[in-house]
Amino acid sequence: MPEPLPLHSAELLAVGAELLVGETRDTNSGDLAGELTALGVEVLRLGALPDRLDVVSGALRDALTRAELVITTGGLGPTPDDLTREAIAAVCSETPAVDPELERWLRDLFARRGIRFAELNLKQAWLIPSASALPNANGTAPGWWVDRPDGRVVIALPGPPRELKAMWRDAVLPRLQARGLGADRAAETLRLTGIGESLIAELIGEEVLRRRNPEVATYARVDAVDVRVSATGDGTTSARELVDGAVATLLPVLGSYVFARGDEGWPEAIGRRVRGRTVAIAEVGTAGQLAGILGRMPWLHEARVLGARTPAARAHGTARAWAEAIRAEAGTDVGLALIARPRKGDLAVTVAVADGTRTTQLRTLAFLAGEQGRRRAANAACAELWARLGDGTRTRRRRA
Ligand code: ATP
Repeated sequence: MPEPLPLHSAELLAVGAELLVGETRDTNSGDLAGELTALGVEVLRLGALPDRLDVVSGALRDALTRAELVITTGGLGPTPDDLTREAIAAVCSETPAVDPELERWLRDLFARRGIRFAELNLKQAWLIPSASALPNANGTAPGWWVDRPDGRVVIALPGPPRELKAMWRDAVLPRLQARGLGADRAAETLRLTGIGESLIAELIGEEVLRRRNPEVATYARVDAVDVRVSATGDGTTSARELVDGAVATLLPVLGSYVFARGDEGWPEAIGRRVRGRTVAIAEVGTAGQLAGILGRMPWLHEARVLGARTPAARAHGTARAWAEAIRAEAGTDVGLALIARPRKGDLAVTVAVADGTRTTQLRTLAFLAGEQGRRRAANAACAELWARLGDGTRTRRRRA
């Protein structure tokens, strides 16, 4: 056996006709791509394939010319159109045979569930000589781990995300890590509010944005613009040091716009500033978007959602009056009112925050009406609340 290759590159192949007609969305590949990237494995390609032996085996062969690790998802079921095993066997020029141990496990599983064992199921007990089985705790299709003579690895995982995730976590990841994979990679995401992507790019500067290592990239998300810094250790400096160095140079320029880092969003960012205070919100014309974002936080004591044309929505009038009223009625430290009204295809947004000492009001415009505009309006309210809970300065007046 040759010395195992360090697995630095991967390709993911999702198998299943339903993916190509749009009946099932391929979330598996994206999930695995995220996991592999975080482990420092470069994902070269993602692909979706029909249930055709020639196509799947051809794609596998091609992928193995490029990537050190190829992972398939789906096509491990018992029926003739589940042919991932056949495709891998063809690529390896090996013949599948029923593995007695897997057969016993499978027959047991059916017996325990009181289901008649159709002989078709025996396919799920197949192995080829270079494959070992990956146990499936949530289904009847074990996965395959295949070592290729040149040190590359093929892994076949079942399609249902619940089965795949457990198998990845319990059987695949520990084995990959034991084998050695990935480069020294690190990343950090700064989440920005109150500034658009183009202005951020201007502040960061073209030279920094063009650099490959550390790489600085901006992404416009629903609730923020993310600045993602990522790096690969270069032998002299570790990936973490490279990322930390880049973040340290970005923070003096962008710091005042950063409300969160990593996977965090508005609930966590606001939560950090609440410091024991309680909050009540009233939203008009946003179909509960703000409650949807903040609703699970323990410091949010009351959330009122009103349709724009209801008599109650008209009764309090201004956002300022609403914020003060909801604060008093809910008995919280802070009251916030968000009012969104359609204006020429966009939403005119007013956010007021009352904290007992003063009430501030912000007017802004959320691009687009409908679901997107309402979500933007709610994000603008989150940004305003976050700013008020901080040093008291308000977010800049801007289009949300
Ligand atoms: P099983 O035999 O356990 O059903 P399988 O490996 O044969 O597993 P498929 O038949 O290909 O898997 O898919 C089963 C189901 O898993 C699909 O109907 C779909 O709901 C889900 N699924 C399959 N592939 C994907 C994917 N790439 N992303 C998200 N879901 C998927």
